[in-house]
Amino acid sequence: MEVHDVELTISAVAPKQYPKGSLPEVALAGRSNVGKSSLINTLINRKAYARTSSQPGKTQTLNFYNVESTVYFVDVPGYGFAKVSKTAREKYGQMIETYLSTRDRLRGVILLVDARHDPSDDDISMHEWLSYYNIPMLVVATKSDKIARGKWNQAESRIRKGLNMTPEDAYIQFSAETKQGKDAVWNWIEQQAGL
Ligand code: GDP
Repeated sequence: MEVHDVELTISAVAPKQYPKGSLPEVALAGRSNVGKSSLINTLINRKAYARTSSQPGKTQTLNFYNVESTVYFVDVPGYGFAKVSKTAREKYGQMIETYLSTRDRLRGVILLVDARHDPSDDDISMHEWLSYYNIPMLVVATKSDKIARGKWNQAESRIRKGLNMTPEDAYIQFSAETKQGKDAVWNWIEQQAGL
């Protein structure tokens, strides 16, 4: 999709704040620092529109980006903060679980993992949880420019195995530096959102 207009409609913490209307939504989730803001900015052709909301201590919100009045990207706060309190983690978990398990306009979730590493326990939990709820999912392996081309297949096998993915489960390797995977991610979004 050729993107010109993007607007941060709302930073929500509760369902009553979710946007009204009927646009389909695609959520993006992953641990802090995985490259989520960079993926969003690449998809919408901006340098620094989506800011990283992952610093510990910052308010954790679900950021709804209206893209071309066609689809909402829902930026789910990065998980896996060592520094926040258990209570804050539980609250964060509830906010995300409520959104992901009750939102009928949610068409799919992009789960980001770092192409260089084995999936973390949090990545595995998130993947299991989304699978349990039958939420359509795309796994995006980020920062692919940081691994040699000859190791791409190996990275894919490692991540598929770590997340217990079947061969049919969608996987795309992505780099915000080289834009590798940008079109493929957009294709998946358009397909899920029925665009
Ligand atoms: P977020 O916390 O998940 O939103 O992560 P950011 O998008 O803010 O990225 C975290 C760090 O990783 C930043 O320093 C980015 O510049 C870097 N980064 C993100 N994506 C890529 C990528 O595709 N390639 C490389 N080399 N660095 C990346």
